[in-house]
Amino acid sequence: MFKQFNLHDALLRAVHEAGYDSPTPIQQQAIPAVLSGRDLLAAAQTGTGKTAAFGLPLLHKLHAQLPLPQDARAPRALILVPTRELAAQVEESVRGFGRHLAQKSLLIFGGVSPKPQLEALRRGCDLIIATPGRLLDHLQGRAVDLSRIETLVLDEADRMLDMGFIRAIRKIIAALPSRRQNLLFSATFSGEIRELARSLLRDPLSIDVAPRNTPTELVDHRVYHVESADKQQLLSRLLGSDSGRQSLVFTRTKHGANRLAQRLERDGIRCAAIHGNKSQGARTRALSDFKDGRIQVLVATDIAARGIDIIELPHVVNFELPHVPEDYVHRIGRTGRAGCAGEAVSLVSREERDRLRAIERMLGRPIPVAA
Ligand code: AMP
Repeated sequence: MFKQFNLHDALLRAVHEAGYDSPTPIQQQAIPAVLSGRDLLAAAQTGTGKTAAFGLPLLHKLHAQLPLPQDARAPRALILVPTRELAAQVEESVRGFGRHLAQKSLLIFGGVSPKPQLEALRRGCDLIIATPGRLLDHLQGRAVDLSRIETLVLDEADRMLDMGFIRAIRKIIAALPSRRQNLLFSATFSGEIRELARSLLRDPLSIDVAPRNTPTELVDHRVYHVESADKQQLLSRLLGSDSGRQSLVFTRTKHGANRLAQRLERDGIRCAAIHGNKSQGARTRALSDFKDGRIQVLVATDIAARGIDIIELPHVVNFELPHVPEDYVHRIGRTGRAGCAGEAVSLVSREERDRLRAIERMLGRPIPVAA
């Protein structure tokens, strides 16, 4: 029960309206720790409920404080995330949790005109959700005042480092007050993440939760051995024979995603591509078309798809295997949620055999070949 945390009634009401009955394991551990003011080091992937794990106590604390005078309104909490999509998703969740409170959140990311963000910053907010690059631009342009930040959240810290954001993150951190609470969430723990955690966190509580559904449990994995040149034809056949079922298809490159989407369209399959070179508008549209069932297939690169929450998506296709074995888990982490069995199909060419072996080593078992 969420009642045990002594969260503000307005938050409990929003949690109830969101349909959450009981806290997930990460919420169980993180909410009291965050409320107590401790730093946190959490190993958790998307799907574990991590957004509420930091969002609820953060809002509670913001609400419990005396408001700053209107002319001195400055953000008190900062959530850094790797991608625009994740930023939008986290902001939507936080806004939902805070719907019965007066706290104002502000979303900041690149790829769109900075003007509306600058205007919103001038109007003031309590909480910022941002990707590091654009926030740093605003900081350097003196458009944002981070001197009142009391809590910093690094969400999907591993992915932010993968995307080369470490320098921007360090510059942003340098602009924060030294006395503050720090929460670091990461799915994986490389040396670089550990180093960041060591330099950032003070006596953190470590939490390690298994993904709500581990890919090895709920998802049916299959491999097709196929030459690169024949992959698209095989994919069209697989999608066509399963008409109507929605699939998220991964390619390694943006160019590959575009090309594949065009060819699938030519085969009569309604689809869209989502990747870093698409405008924000196009990406948002593709995602909502997919969620609303207007398109059957969403072709995505790893970074574009990271953290996107597509509930109850039973079918993921790896048109190409990822370079990093962990990305395989991230890709299929979105299937088999909420107890529904998912399916992950990988089309593997001869050149990709080594990558397949690395993935199998990580999963701890071979992936069966499709009959
Ligand atoms: P997250 O890991 O924060 O991206 O959350 C993954 C999904 O789980 C989202 O769709 C949330 O709305 C949902 N969720 C989070 N916490 C709970 C909960 N306690 N009960 C049910 N669903 C939840």
